[in-house]
Amino acid sequence: MELVRTEGLEKIYQEATVAVHALRGVDLTVEKGEFTALAGPSGSGKTTLLNLIGGLDVPTRGRVVFEGRDLSSQSKTELSRIRLKKLGFVFQSYNLIPVLSAVENVEFVMLLQGIGHRERREQAEQVLREVGLGDMMYRRPDELSGGQQQRVAVARAIVSRPSLILADEPTANLDSATGSSLLDMMKELNDRMGITFLFSTHDQRVMERARRLVLLQDGVVVEEKNKDVS
Ligand code: ADP
Repeated sequence: MELVRTEGLEKIYQEATVAVHALRGVDLTVEKGEFTALAGPSGSGKTTLLNLIGGLDVPTRGRVVFEGRDLSSQSKTELSRIRLKKLGFVFQSYNLIPVLSAVENVEFVMLLQGIGHRERREQAEQVLREVGLGDMMYRRPDELSGGQQQRVAVARAIVSRPSLILADEPTANLDSATGSSLLDMMKELNDRMGITFLFSTHDQRVMERARRLVLLQDGVVVEEKNKDVS
């Protein structure tokens, strides 16, 4: 079942007199339950594509259809509602709030959603246990390792049970063993909770763990591999 698709997606960044054609017509469909990697060299358009799919930026041409709805025809309010409820984001630099503990970082999204304190805390504690941080919930980011911080970021992304997690180079700042175990954890969440993951990477080991690999080059999809089919 289709979760999101892009149609003829193009993005041109205009900076002063220079135009950068970051995406040149991407048609990509992601089905529910996929665990898909976007691969490709630096500058090939991976971040741009994730940002457009997540409604964080708007395409120059083409469109993104998420759960049957064209993102470009949604109001700003509706778009933020979709982002808050349906999407989870994980970034390479974790993006945790430094003064908040792990559990408070995870609760933050639910605070924005107006969920009461007790329920917030219960849900945050539960997802932190799910990502293996049951005994570190009250530590601040600077009291956690990079791998642990990224687990908090994943916990924050999944706490509202979104349909899709978009992760931009989630293992880029982690050593290979830590990166691999983060990927294993994401795959387990994908299997167990049915959350769809779309993540970018240029790490070979990360690509090997993906069920489906979409290779971008110069803003177009040049190759696709699907391990479920081959
Ligand atoms: P990747 O994630 O694969 O490294 P990006 O999507 O970040 O690729 O970048 C694709 C191209 O668009 C690159 O040439 C990059 O320099 C350019 N680009 C990305 N963001 C911007 C921006 N905000 N302004 C201008 N150019 C940008």
